[in-house]
Amino acid sequence: MDWNSIDGCQIMERRFLLLFGSQTGQSQAVAEEIFEKALEHGFQPDLHNINETEKKFNIEKETLLVLVISSTGDGEPPDTALKFWRRIRKKTLGSDYLGNLRYTILGLGDSNYSNFCQNPKNFDLRFQQLGAQHFYSMGFADDAIGLEIVVEPWIDGLLSALTSQFSEKSENCSLDHAISDKNQQTDLKPQIDETDNVKDDNKQDNVANAITTVDLAIVSTEKELGDIKVVEKTIEVSSLVKSIPPIEGQIVVPALPHSFLEVHYSEDESIDLDSLCIQNGAALPSATTDIVMANIVNVSTLTRQDAVKTALEIQLEITESEMTFEPGDSFGIVCENSRDEVEELILKLSVTNVADSVCYLKLKEETRKKNAAIPPFLPTRTTIRHLLVTCCDIRTPIKKGFIRMLAEYTPNTLEKARLQELCSRQGSSQYTHFIREPNLSLLDILKAFPSCCPPIERILEHLPRLLPRPYSISSSPLVSRKHLNFVFNIVEIPSGSGRQYSRKGVCTGWLSSSQIDCNNKPKIPIYGRKNLSFHLPSDLSIPMILIGAGTGLAPFIGFMQHREAQVKHDQDLLCGPIWLFFGCRHNERDYLYRSELERFHEVGILSNISVSFSRDNSTSARYVQDNILLHSDSVCKLLLEKNAVIYVCGDARNMSKDVNNTIVTIISQHQGIAMEEAKSVTMKLRQEGRYLEDIWT
Ligand code: FAD
Ligand code: NAP
Repeated sequence: MDWNSIDGCQIMERRFLLLFGSQTGQSQAVAEEIFEKALEHGFQPDLHNINETEKKFNIEKETLLVLVISSTGDGEPPDTALKFWRRIRKKTLGSDYLGNLRYTILGLGDSNYSNFCQNPKNFDLRFQQLGAQHFYSMGFADDAIGLEIVVEPWIDGLLSALTSQFSEKSENCSLDHAISDKNQQTDLKPQIDETDNVKDDNKQDNVANAITTVDLAIVSTEKELGDIKVVEKTIEVSSLVKSIPPIEGQIVVPALPHSFLEVHYSEDESIDLDSLCIQNGAALPSATTDIVMANIVNVSTLTRQDAVKTALEIQLEITESEMTFEPGDSFGIVCENSRDEVEELILKLSVTNVADSVCYLKLKEETRKKNAAIPPFLPTRTTIRHLLVTCCDIRTPIKKGFIRMLAEYTPNTLEKARLQELCSRQGSSQYTHFIREPNLSLLDILKAFPSCCPPIERILEHLPRLLPRPYSISSSPLVSRKHLNFVFNIVEIPSGSGRQYSRKGVCTGWLSSSQIDCNNKPKIPIYGRKNLSFHLPSDLSIPMILIGAGTGLAPFIGFMQHREAQVKHDQDLLCGPIWLFFGCRHNERDYLYRSELERFHEVGILSNISVSFSRDNSTSARYVQDNILLHSDSVCKLLLEKNAVIYVCGDARNMSKDVNNTIVTIISQHQGIAMEEAKSVTMKLRQEGRYLEDIWT
């Protein structure tokens, strides 16, 4: 309990513990937002990374907790939360271990994955088992539709709940009740839907609510044609730069975020940028190795020129002692932003003359930001260009606080007013529709609002970290431990919908621009990531059903190379059948690794290949799941009688869900059981590690 004794009275501090468990930094950013707002409302949040357990806080001694935590993979805790999770999971803890704790959790997840926000739900369950109770309902924010749709109203509700919580406590105090009565929970509801079980239907509703109805206005303009006046009527629609009709009434804009950074230039100094520690020691998500430099030794295009997407395969040379891998593992690429885009940004921000000078980042001494710190991913001695190329994510749709700051540096009154609308509470749906959904970058905004020119310091305060991108390894260490292959589609993002310029995906664009002369052996920074389950079964006789669309084929190539090498090494090995279901668009344009797959089939590594072409109209199966339906009997026999393992890799948004539904359907038909029962069978397969997914959006 946090009691201070003043003038003989006990005064309750308005302190609460605010924890974040973050994998990519989003939970941390949200927790920091809560921190700022809580301070503004007179609370005393004690903000910590959840991995600081026992160093900075002891959960059993706390009375009020707000936890912001994400879910990774299939509902697992972020790496940073593992220590805390293991601690509270101990079987020896009694049912009143957290009996004094009142708490709430804001979970961040992505409903494209089957176990949406499972990790926050697991924490909630465990807290309850240990005797803790809610003081405010949990929130579940969904990255698939925009975290802010839930986060913002949830924080508003949290502040009210904290106010009630503390007034309840001080009432209890004046009544000389030191221990709060757990049966009198406030459990205030935030002004959002109960999203405990976010279903797809819900998601659709949320999206529909988030999108503005397109506002129209008929605008009349008079033109003079000789002596005649002509009235032209045009229809204007709302857009990024204009709301039609303008948002009415007084708008509520967020408070201007406090500035906290200073940049000092030292133009006479020189700096060796290569020697700068990459991303300045910021933690790498899911890393199992340090960053190592890998040579690009080969780049090949796997698709024909007229394919819808261009797939490239890159071979990297690594030092065996620095990084080992198994088929099914992925690795992270520490990529760079487009140098052309950075150059444009530098021009727009009017920092061309200092962009390559050595600069020092310092905290503003007089900053009013509480707990201000230089973001750990920013080196403090560097250059502006280096920060923008390698450290900051310049693409992520800018947040409302960022827009609020930009409005402050926009002299044109119309532009300023529109920026204020876009970050206002009343402009929330417009923000979602015009900024978040089309994925507008900082440069898009600066181009659309040309008078806006903020100082670089303010920009660096708001840009999040440029995150590494993971890729599945598509080769086997039994073929070469020194080489690692991967395959990717170049992400092409056209201009339009507010985007002021066309662009490629950050990492795939960068990699494709390094389609350079491989004789020069260009190097890229990478690091190892382990997949805990998506591996070949240790018992080689177990049949495997491999299902992948597009580049989701990648890990399966590694699987087959591995199996071939194992068989070559020991020809008496008894291997179970492998059945591949692969889907692409056109037989002739994007059938990845076609000759390798045919060879694996010829030599008996692959027992069956079923390929679906979604845009050829030549086969009865359009998608992988259509082929599974066509072969439902054989698939079910392998799965239910021969204990096969299913592996699904590729798109999480649609394909993996449709495949799951198809497996449920064929089990239901084959076993003559109801769909609900077939769902339970499929769930059991997942629990037994016989239905494995490696999927991403
Ligand atoms: P980004 O710059 O991150 O851009 C992608 C984003 O752009 C999308 O999220 C989308 O929001 C947006 N976008 C795309 N198209 C449009 C559009 N038309 N309009 C508006 N916005 C748009 N990928 C592979 O190709 N091969 C792999 O083997 C592979 N393995 C993976 C393994 C794991 C474990 C994970 C988590 C992911 C894997 N991925 C793989 C995905 C990969 O990490 C990257 O996300 C992907 O390559 C895109 O990265 P990028 O930086 O080029 O694109
Ligand atoms: P893609 O372009 O998404 O599509 C490949 C094929 O899938 C196309 O023929 C497409 O058909 C079809 N398809 C579309 N909707 C489908 C559905 N509901 N069910 C089944 N098939 C469907 O492939 P890609 O660009 O290579 O991307 C695959 C995705 O997986 C990307 O998001 C990539 O980042 C990810 N990935 C993840 C991993 C991993 O997690 N380990 C590894 C590799 C790739 P139409 O277009 O004709 O509809």
